[in-house]
Amino acid sequence: MQLKYIFNQIGKKLGIGLILILIVSIHIFIIIGNSFFVEYSILEMENDATLINKSGMIRGGIQRVIKLELDNKDTTEYISNIDSIFNEFFMEEKYKLVNDKMITFVSKLELLQREWKVLKELIFTYHLTKQGIDKSSLIAQSEYIWNLSEDALYTVSILSSKKTDMLKNTFFIFLIDFFLIVFIIYLINKKIRNKLEILSTTDPLTNIKNRNMYNEALCFELELNKRAKNNTAFLFLDIDFFKDINDTYGHDTGDLVLKELVLILEETIRKTDMLFRIGGEEFVIFVKEIKKENLEKLANKIRLQVEAFDSKISHKFTISIGATMFNPDDTKDTIFKRVDKALYQSKNSGRNKVTIV
Ligand code: GH3
Ligand code: MG
Ligand code: MG
Repeated sequence: MQLKYIFNQIGKKLGIGLILILIVSIHIFIIIGNSFFVEYSILEMENDATLINKSGMIRGGIQRVIKLELDNKDTTEYISNIDSIFNEFFMEEKYKLVNDKMITFVSKLELLQREWKVLKELIFTYHLTKQGIDKSSLIAQSEYIWNLSEDALYTVSILSSKKTDMLKNTFFIFLIDFFLIVFIIYLINKKIRNKLEILSTTDPLTNIKNRNMYNEALCFELELNKRAKNNTAFLFLDIDFFKDINDTYGHDTGDLVLKELVLILEETIRKTDMLFRIGGEEFVIFVKEIKKENLEKLANKIRLQVEAFDSKISHKFTISIGATMFNPDDTKDTIFKRVDKALYQSKNSGRNKVTIV
């Protein structure tokens, strides 16, 4: 509830459109950022897998060399294999491992390579002197190398598993993004509904309530007047000779006059009164809480305000008004016929007039 209130306040301040743009931008940022991160992590993990594989090959290869050497078998091929793995690593892989943690692994592998060179010397000596001599130092060095390669392997495995954990976090980021998408859909839905509501209730030219709203409000007002004491008045207004204004100055100027009239009416009536545009240049006002004896005074006040208005067009314009009070037994038809007749009388008696019935 509290959260909804906060969202509504932010929505009112910024407008749904701006919030929507903001959230869609965050969503795009998350999707792009996360996709790059996933791509980068997969590449890193592939690299780590290669390193783990190579460390394992070095470890296993050295053990095999020692075993074959002790069995007096030819080890030349295996030794050159191990050398080429080291060379490959120091020529190609090493430069990819620029981050601090991987440097630990590189230094461990460098140590391993140094010790491997020592072992090769020992093998060479063992080879020359043959059986029995230096066998124990050969085995000891091979054990030492086993431990070093195990340590290197462990280092890279730990680092790789940390990267896997980080990759798991992207799941949560995608989850947050999912909620963002739900929120985006909610906002779009709200914006469309707001727009539809405005379209179905508002006159697009003058931004006041349209004929639909008039019909709804009329039913409500009739219902209300059946139950309570009748204090609402129905004013029907029509611009005089509006066709001439259109014909003389053009349709756009006619539109401007309609807007000017709405401004005058809105300034004259009270906030609780209701103003509708129900046709081309026909307007209705429901005036609340007014006594019948004051109705003529109010209608004339409106008429005079319009007459006195200094229009942007060089031509002054006037309105005619028919007005009546809501009666308890009124229906939509009876009240409208009555007020329409009153307006007709105002027109017939010379226009720029008020008729109360
Ligand atoms: P009367 O004094 O008897 O009311 O004469 P009138 O010329 O005002 O009445 P009439 O009904 O003959 O003309 C109304 C004109 O209003 C005709 C129509 O073209 C014009 N009109 C209707 N809707 C609009 C609108 O949205 N914009 C403009 N500029 N004119 C409109
Ligand atoms: Mg008319
Ligand atoms: Mg008219």
